[in-house]
Amino acid sequence: MGLFGKKRGDGNPPGAPAGGKQPQPAPPAQQAPDWQQVARQGQELAAQARAGGLRRSFADLARYGQVVAQVGAQQVSTAQGGTGTAMQTGNVRGLLAALGMNWNSDYAKRCTCRTCGGPKRLPSPSAYLYCDYCGALADYDFRKACDSTALPGPAYVNLANSMRATTDAAKAAGDQAAYREAQRRLFEAYVTECPQAVSHRVGDAKYRAGLVNYMAETAVVNDFDPAFSALAAEVIEKVKVLQWKGGLQDRKVAGPSFRVMADVLKKQLARANELSSSPTLRDMDPDRAAKEVRDHMSSSTFCQGWLPFLEADDAKWLISDWGLDAEYTKLEVPTDGENWHCGRCGGDVVVLPGAKVVVCDHCGNSLDVGGGQSPCRGCGGLITFPVGLSQIDCPYCKTATERIGWT
Ligand SMILES: [Zn+2]
Ligand SMILES: [Zn+2]
Ligand SMILES: [Zn+2]
Repeated sequence: MGLFGKKRGDGNPPGAPAGGKQPQPAPPAQQAPDWQQVARQGQELAAQARAGGLRRSFADLARYGQVVAQVGAQQVSTAQGGTGTAMQTGNVRGLLAALGMNWNSDYAKRCTCRTCGGPKRLPSPSAYLYCDYCGALADYDFRKACDSTALPGPAYVNLANSMRATTDAAKAAGDQAAYREAQRRLFEAYVTECPQAVSHRVGDAKYRAGLVNYMAETAVVNDFDPAFSALAAEVIEKVKVLQWKGGLQDRKVAGPSFRVMADVLKKQLARANELSSSPTLRDMDPDRAAKEVRDHMSSSTFCQGWLPFLEADDAKWLISDWGLDAEYTKLEVPTDGENWHCGRCGGDVVVLPGAKVVVCDHCGNSLDVGGGQSPCRGCGGLITFPVGLSQIDCPYCKTATERIGWT
């Protein structure tokens, strides 16, 4: 336990009489991937891509890249009797380390909150870096995103396949309502199967619903935009003619054909970024991300998927050309933080002096730390209320507790 705040409480609510062990909510289960299924999905997706079935633009492309990477890792793993995840992460890590990006976990992306100006000082459980002082999304950590091997399972792949006819028909008929509904179902399934691929705030039901709606609307806006669609079609043509080299265990894309594809995709991403600046989409984003952060996220998603297939010089070109070579600095463990407890899940939360809102690392709820801690009426544990709530069931003893001093 190196850094504070990363473990859940010890079972005793803070401030409660000693000796009374209280039940702790279980942390979310980590599911081990079924590599055979992953391999099958990879083959299916690769076949679709070859047949020109990539319809969902860069999100699909990035996912395709991830799937193929997983398949490669699985094949190596089967041959060597190791674990596929470690192989893939290891390859990308080795590549980025060779490019001078520090992979040590005590290095973090240097950033400053665009909302309140606060510096990011605490580690984040996901690539989403929320401000330690106001809870706003401050930045997105590309290196951390590369650490995740999140991949949708067969339920998502089957749903996507079965809905392809529906989405194609809706698009051909210009039926945005039907298209939106289909996209909602798809993103709902994606978030269910791959929660680690999105923000850790997804544990907050309101955020999650907002995120699904936002992603679905983004798909509608993009896919019904003629300029975006034309660029998407051009990207698919470039993907079809990508030249591959190396064996199954070390498959790389030949640099020139990749750079041609990446250049068209950059135009497509630029169009998507323009569209995402519309007031409608901006207001639907549950993170209210600044334009630079949103743009950075879409570039990161793409690069992350393709890095395992690139030679070092192409990877270096991609990361620098797309502005992802941010400065990483050694994380100094703050000594001025206090350990508080989340009123939703009971997990530890580090509160820095002057903080108003912080996002719980464990359940993703935004907590109103500016409003102080309140003792539970049942067990006496000190808990911190989620933003906007005046009453909550204590995470330790389930007693309904009201917030002190709330008006
Ligand atoms: Zn802030
Ligand atoms: Zn929590
Ligand atoms: Zn209690």
